[in-house]
Amino acid sequence: MAHDLPKAYDPTGIEDRWAEYWVQERLFEQPTPNSNEPQQGAGEPFTILLPPPNVTGRLHMGHMLNQTEMDILTRWRRMQGRRALWLPGTDHAGIATQMMVERQLVSEGSSREKVGRGAFVERVWEWKRHYGGAILDQMKRLGASVDWSREYFTMDARLSVAVREAFVRLYEQGLIYRGAYIVNWCPRCQTAISDLEVVYDEHNGHLWEIRYPVIDDAGKDTGEFLTIATTRPETMLGDVAVAVHPEDERYTRLHGKKLRLPLMDRAIPIVTDDWVSREFGTGAVKVTPAHDPNDFALGERHGLPSISVMDTTAQINENGGLYAGLDRFVARKKIVADLEHLGLLAGVKDHVHNVGHCDRCKTIVEPRLSTQWFIKIQPLAEKAIAAVKPDANGEKAIRFIPEMYEKTYLNWMENIHDWCISRQLWWGHRIPAWHCAACRKITVAREDPHRCGHCGFRGITQESDVLDTWFSSGLLPVSVFGWPDVTAEARADFDTFYPTSLLVTGFDILFFWVARMIMLGCWFSSDVPMADGSPRTLKDSVPFREVYIHALVRDANREKMSKTKGNVIDPIEIVGQYGTDAVRFTLASMASPGTDIAFNVARTEGYRAFANKIWNAARFIFMNVDKAAEAGIEVDPAVLPLLPFVGIDAPLEDGWIIAELHSTASKVNRSLENYRFDDAANAIYQFFWGSFCDWYLEIVKLRLDFSGTVDAKKIEAALTTLLSVFEASLRMLSPFMPFITEELWHAVYVRNPPAKSIALMSYPPVQSSHVRMQIEMELVQSLIVEIRALRKEIGVEERAITPIELRINSGLKHVIEENSATVEKLARVSEVRFVNAIAAGLSKHHAAEFDVAVVYEKKVDVAAERERLTKEIARFEKALVSAEKQLGNPAFLGKAPAQVVEGLKKQEMETRLLLEKARIAMASLPPE
Ligand SMILES: [Zn+2]
Ligand SMILES: [Zn+2]
Repeated sequence: MAHDLPKAYDPTGIEDRWAEYWVQERLFEQPTPNSNEPQQGAGEPFTILLPPPNVTGRLHMGHMLNQTEMDILTRWRRMQGRRALWLPGTDHAGIATQMMVERQLVSEGSSREKVGRGAFVERVWEWKRHYGGAILDQMKRLGASVDWSREYFTMDARLSVAVREAFVRLYEQGLIYRGAYIVNWCPRCQTAISDLEVVYDEHNGHLWEIRYPVIDDAGKDTGEFLTIATTRPETMLGDVAVAVHPEDERYTRLHGKKLRLPLMDRAIPIVTDDWVSREFGTGAVKVTPAHDPNDFALGERHGLPSISVMDTTAQINENGGLYAGLDRFVARKKIVADLEHLGLLAGVKDHVHNVGHCDRCKTIVEPRLSTQWFIKIQPLAEKAIAAVKPDANGEKAIRFIPEMYEKTYLNWMENIHDWCISRQLWWGHRIPAWHCAACRKITVAREDPHRCGHCGFRGITQESDVLDTWFSSGLLPVSVFGWPDVTAEARADFDTFYPTSLLVTGFDILFFWVARMIMLGCWFSSDVPMADGSPRTLKDSVPFREVYIHALVRDANREKMSKTKGNVIDPIEIVGQYGTDAVRFTLASMASPGTDIAFNVARTEGYRAFANKIWNAARFIFMNVDKAAEAGIEVDPAVLPLLPFVGIDAPLEDGWIIAELHSTASKVNRSLENYRFDDAANAIYQFFWGSFCDWYLEIVKLRLDFSGTVDAKKIEAALTTLLSVFEASLRMLSPFMPFITEELWHAVYVRNPPAKSIALMSYPPVQSSHVRMQIEMELVQSLIVEIRALRKEIGVEERAITPIELRINSGLKHVIEENSATVEKLARVSEVRFVNAIAAGLSKHHAAEFDVAVVYEKKVDVAAERERLTKEIARFEKALVSAEKQLGNPAFLGKAPAQVVEGLKKQEMETRLLLEKARIAMASLPPE
């Protein structure tokens, strides 16, 4: 049967077809180990979790890099025989998803409040069912070899059980508490947000200096003032004190005195505290515990009350006196105006400072005192530190790549505060805690309770807050494998796939995800026994053994991609233009630890050409296979996956290309083990384009001679090696370019391959074979390269076939003799003349093993050459005259910049040399 490969390589048709095939055939599913399903791979498990994208997300270049790296590693490990499992899913993304649906409601003239909590949550589920799969569909199209049967969503019932168990257990262990705390509050999203979700922008603001009157014991103004400075004057409504440094001599006499808070007419104390900076502003600071984290801490130290003056929408509340009901910024203006009117505004200065915005909606964040739920971070953080630090033997349970992130992580973890896990949203895991209307105590339970666990009263209501999204995604490494159900029967997945092998992620979620997963993973897995029943040590409690932090994808000018700059590259668009394989290869060829990628479309174009080259090589090979078949010569497809045995008398190129294949596979293995995707990709590229196409195919062509009497044995041997090396090369390339390799691999077997997919075949083996042939081939190659260079130098016409003189060590002479056909064909040599010394007068090249010269006499048309030289000499002479004139002109020399003059002088010298050469050539012409 003939091969039916289309003439032109067109990725679109191929890629859609195979992407669908991989999903439909369920090729990358990894069944639970104790199930009856056939298991994939017998070796050590290779487990990798996809950092779950937000369910609202769309694929961007960062995802594309992240997923390309994960897919390369998973496909490569799978082909190495590892039991590979790549597990996909999405995150319910509390704030982002709630916002999306809120906007929908607003556009319909409704709102979250109007529809109510139950209906709103149902509406979000509906949204999820309709649109929630978009990002995973994009992943499918890009061929990610994940196990789709295990796809999860962090709000799934199964995972929600884990979330509930984790919360209850931490509560029972005394590690969850409720308390007042200053949180970053988003007045738009109506929820507390994490420090990590606040983005700071530089802001041109003001520093207002306000006079607070000093009062006597009777409450009367003494006529003296204390001036404070603030960037948020509206918060003064909640001031409870003014603090100065205890050693600040300017204020010693005011220690113990009181002030009258302007606008509120409330007496507040002057307190002393080391925390106050004497250098900032006036050295006296207002203290507003309910609206500033530092003031809150100071208030705690001094037993001061907290007065909250804003509601959840950042309007002044009833504690704000005359300003109640005003928006915070309206109130600010009015307060400043009123102070000025009262003569209490001492000054206004321009002041550049950082203002925190909500990462989601860009609203200015308001620090706000509220009651929240917290995780007591010790001893969780302690464990998470021990998991990364080297133990007594210098071993680390978790290794960071690049290593520098280990320090970043440890530094953060060592300074971590208690983790605020409550969010005032409706979309998320609702906190399983019930408040009692009678005894006011809290009941936390695994099953929804009907009565108070303390007094038995039936009037209980569930906490309205939900959990931080990172609480559930931090649990994923245990929850996706069935935790908390860890009975011996239910534990097969956990026993096999936990700890996972690797997490591949960007730096931006190091603290969100990586840190939470390490804390929660170590904590909750530690009491799950090992498969053999032995207790689990820290080494096996970690959620992953390695964390690879990948770099950023920037634009071609190394600028960060951003919507405002308009330099964002949409991966789906670029894939449509060049094909997924070319885009994947571009990313891989530039990816190495710690180096940002400057994504340049020109490179993708280059790798598209690479794919073309492979396609054309396949067409050439298939054409010859088909020709052979017509002549009755068949290649046995059963031998293809095994590289043929190369005997001592086999053609040099056969042994060499197989040796090259082995050493490339070895280089790829080494590189991928060290996350050098770039080295791996480049090694394969060099092999395929250089060794295989440019050398091997050119040489092996000489043996595929169908003219005249056909030497069937010779052709069969040549084709068998050619086809099996090509097949193995496709397997080697497959993790990087899965689509084109799948297509061509099926074509190699004329659509009757030994497996359902190339991805299920084994990776080419690594053997140090045929070293002699490698050395000999290198000699032949370097001889050909030198001859080609010489021909160029002495101006041999392209088509001319010439003899060479070769002086070579006697021990190597046979190599050239045996491969003279190759040398003759590839270097256009008519005859190799072995000599003891190159004849005088021939220009020659030296290599370590040989000297070589091309014997060539240029036939010259004397008349034409004389005419050409005459013109050339005239042109040079004219140029010289002009240059001398300029350089002899003092007016010009006085005005022209130094480098222009230098350039002219250099040019003049060069012209003089060329003129000299042309004159000599003219003189040496024979007379007519
Ligand atoms: Zn917001
Ligand atoms: Zn009660």
